[in-house]
Amino acid sequence: MSEKRRLLGMTLEELKEVAAEAGLPGYAAKQIADWLYKKKVASISAMTNIASSKRALLEEHFEVGAVPPSEYMKSEDGTIKYLFPAGPGNFVESVFIPTEDRATLCVSSQVGCKMNCLFCMTGKQGFTKNLTANEILNQIQSLPETEQLTNVVFMGMGEPLDNVNELFKVLEILTASYGYGWSPKRITVSTIGVAKGLKRFLDESECHLAVSLHSPYPDERLSLMPIEKAFPARCIIETIKQYDFTHQRRVSFEYIVFKDLNDNLQHAKALICLLNGIPCRVNLIRFHAIPDVSLQSSDIKKMEAFRDALNEAGIVCTIRASRGEDIFAACGMLSTAKKQQIGS
Ligand code: SF4
Repeated sequence: MSEKRRLLGMTLEELKEVAAEAGLPGYAAKQIADWLYKKKVASISAMTNIASSKRALLEEHFEVGAVPPSEYMKSEDGTIKYLFPAGPGNFVESVFIPTEDRATLCVSSQVGCKMNCLFCMTGKQGFTKNLTANEILNQIQSLPETEQLTNVVFMGMGEPLDNVNELFKVLEILTASYGYGWSPKRITVSTIGVAKGLKRFLDESECHLAVSLHSPYPDERLSLMPIEKAFPARCIIETIKQYDFTHQRRVSFEYIVFKDLNDNLQHAKALICLLNGIPCRVNLIRFHAIPDVSLQSSDIKKMEAFRDALNEAGIVCTIRASRGEDIFAACGMLSTAKKQQIGS
């Protein structure tokens, strides 16, 4: 028996095809979208404005496809890391981060990652697969705290712009009036810079952009992030400069601060030069140590001096509060532990 197809994660156009297949009128696609994304029902049988005979027909081949998290770990600071199943033997992480004025979910886009950044636990897993739109959206919809969410950041496992087709379906569903109807300002896509995906994202989406930079120097960035060879930071900057970030849309740069590597004022000056002319902010991030990698987090004094240098140069720079350190908050740690547990 073939597997049922999942409705959750389908765009309105895709739901129109589903409706046609089931012999439903065209407007039924909008009704199904309503049940899925506004009322968030768990089953087709709950879609009561669709004739019961048609619902039965739909149920033969389709299911809603919302899957709850299989595990979670809660930090003392309120951060909760969830593990969602993503096909046989695969799991992805999502991190719910409540603060005083917002509730953010950090969402994964791939199982593993091809990009192999030196400092990243997900990169160490290698690449297994792209998540489907269903598996990406499910992290948001099946989150126990889903109704509290104010923001979503695509900053979890995987490189979102390396899975751009599925990402775009999810961005559409989150922002379309038939879907969640969110403002794009509530959504940030974080990338290390994948040329084709970045261009499409900048052209077709109004969501915020975050770029992982981590060093202003090409050789040093290359030693941390192999992508620098294919698409150097200076090309990312040139691309970004062609777009308007002065109004609704924001661009930020992520900078993990490593002890005695990229945490001195010479780096701060080089970063200021690189970002010259871009209205942006820089987020300094403390490094969460991972096994078998000798990199260490910089100390707070150096980070503060780095931040102050950028602020004095007119670049808004903050040190991101470190959350969930007691629950393996570094992306990829929990799913790696789960993989090892299954494999053992
Ligand atoms: S930092 Fe992001 S792009 Fe780099 S290996 Fe990790 S998940 Fe992939």
